Amino acid sequence: CGIIGYIGQKDTQQVLTTGLSKLEYRGYDSVGIAVVNGESVQVEKAKGRLDVLQDKLDQAPLSGNVGIGHTRWATHGEPSNENSHPHTDGNKEFAVVHNGIIENYLDIKRELKQKGYTFISETDSEVISHLFSDLYDGDMLSTIQKVVKRLEGAYALGIVSEHDPDRLYAVRQASPLIIGAGDGETLISSDIPAVLEHTRDIFILEDGEMAVLTKDDVTLLETETGVELNRDLFRADWDM
Ligand code: GLU
Repeated sequence: CGIIGYIGQKDTQQVLTTGLSKLEYRGYDSVGIAVVNGESVQVEKAKGRLDVLQDKLDQAPLSGNVGIGHTRWATHGEPSNENSHPHTDGNKEFAVVHNGIIENYLDIKRELKQKGYTFISETDSEVISHLFSDLYDGDMLSTIQKVVKRLEGAYALGIVSEHDPDRLYAVRQASPLIIGAGDGETLISSDIPAVLEHTRDIFILEDGEMAVLTKDDVTLLETETGVELNRDLFRADWDM
């Protein structure tokens, strides 16, 4: 029910867990984060409250400069460790957080299982991470376009990959997502308050749009065509 993502020089794990604590009010039954370290994607997740995840992270911290986090409100599959986000492909090359519902996930799941993909969760969301593995063509942007073409329903997505460790990707279709454009760091989030301690410069992503974030730049694109968009920054001047 809440998405956070970060790329920059701060302690990524801490930015993500603090962001998740600010998204708590949206309600959730499990939490998780994925951090790209050099070239591998590390994931930690837990059923229950954020402190359960925090205990795990205290014992085995994840370090890296880019990551995504999620608070889940289960729609498909009970609250459990396996069903928590982020979801990965079998080789952990891609990690995805999803807010929303993929209506045609059973069709996609059947097709991917026939191709030999192994699913570990009961969620609709896990089809997305396996689709990345199946459709990856060496370029994240065109792969995202191929993946999204297959999806019906509502989705805000945060995506990281070991193939592209200096970028964070976001997609929006019928679920909220905003971008924070800080100084040497950028973020994605389901809402504005969760990024305000880092930046007040915000881009609002609209349906059918995606964003490519590096620590220094934000590029907004029309998802289907890849055409670059010019969007005015929104300055969040209110007090928190
Ligand atoms: N439909 C997904 C699931 O049940 C995402 C739920 C959410 O938006 O938190 O895992």
